[in-house]
Amino acid sequence: MAKTKRIGIIASGGDAQGMNACMKTIVTMADRKGMEVVAFLGGYQGLLDDDTKVLTLKDVERSFNLGGSIILSGRSKDFMDIEKRKKAKVVYDKHKLEGIIVLGGDGSIRGAKDLEDLGLNVVVIPCTIDNDVFCSERSIGFDTAVNNAVGAIDNIQQTMSANGRVLIIEVMGRYCGDIALYSGLCSESDIIMIPEKKQTVEKIIREVKKQLSVGNASPTVVIAEHQFDVQEVAKQMENILQKECRAVVLGYIQRGGSPTVQDRLLAVRTAVRSVECVLNNEFGVVVTLNKDKIKLVNFKKAVKSRRKFREDIWNTFVDLKKYVTVKVK
Ligand code: ADP
Repeated sequence: MAKTKRIGIIASGGDAQGMNACMKTIVTMADRKGMEVVAFLGGYQGLLDDDTKVLTLKDVERSFNLGGSIILSGRSKDFMDIEKRKKAKVVYDKHKLEGIIVLGGDGSIRGAKDLEDLGLNVVVIPCTIDNDVFCSERSIGFDTAVNNAVGAIDNIQQTMSANGRVLIIEVMGRYCGDIALYSGLCSESDIIMIPEKKQTVEKIIREVKKQLSVGNASPTVVIAEHQFDVQEVAKQMENILQKECRAVVLGYIQRGGSPTVQDRLLAVRTAVRSVECVLNNEFGVVVTLNKDKIKLVNFKKAVKSRRKFREDIWNTFVDLKKYVTVKVK
């Protein structure tokens, strides 16, 4: 049967585990509904350059459990230029698309809104390890990234404690502290530094000192990126405490690997809903998770959404640490 309707698909910004599961589900659903999926390769740049690939069921075979993005993902500087961005409408019209499904984070939603302003039909599925799509309780990739971080911290802690060293570990998250908060709590780390609860280097050193004074020979500090130079913090700490400290920037280990069940489940649920959006003409929306239900939030509301920081989870961590009541200079 010849396919008359076409959907565009773009993976934008940083890659996130679960993007491929999302794509495969979209291709499967589209196929059932007699639609063809056209991928624009490498983020919004692929749309501007008209760099495409038709995604068949064969193309997405065995991709469900892969990290990364089989249609590439990326950031586009050209897209930020309003004149260059206008090319998107020309390419979109040329392909006679019903709409485009964008997989991406906060920046990609802003970009999707710009596309809507140009007259394109767009739906966004939140995919980012940073969990900074504030209109949704969780984004695809976050759970896997946290699991990766916890596994890595667990391993590094073992060697640190065998050598009696202090561990300072930097995790990703851009300007959102969720990866640090969740991975710190779930790896039984001692100190967590997140942008939502701004603290000083002096405070980190004081807390490490407290830990040492109650017999914890290898305290662990988890720090969300973009706050401190962790190598500098380690040096300063070594000088003050006269104790070996090691700083580790966890980096890309957080991005790779097979998505967790939570990420796969969210990928399937949002992908199915996104194809329904295209069929029902529901555009200009983000397919979010709210109170474990899949809900649509319009772009205008999505870009204005404020952070709902999980104070309760932070307080759980703080309560857990309250037993360390010693006073140190
Ligand atoms: P993420 O979507 O993961 O947050 P980025 O912030 O890098 O990743 O955004 C991905 C792409 O979305 C950028 O390369 C750019 O093309 C587009 N984008 C980002 N921010 C904006 C913005 N404020 N307005 C329009 N487009 C944007």
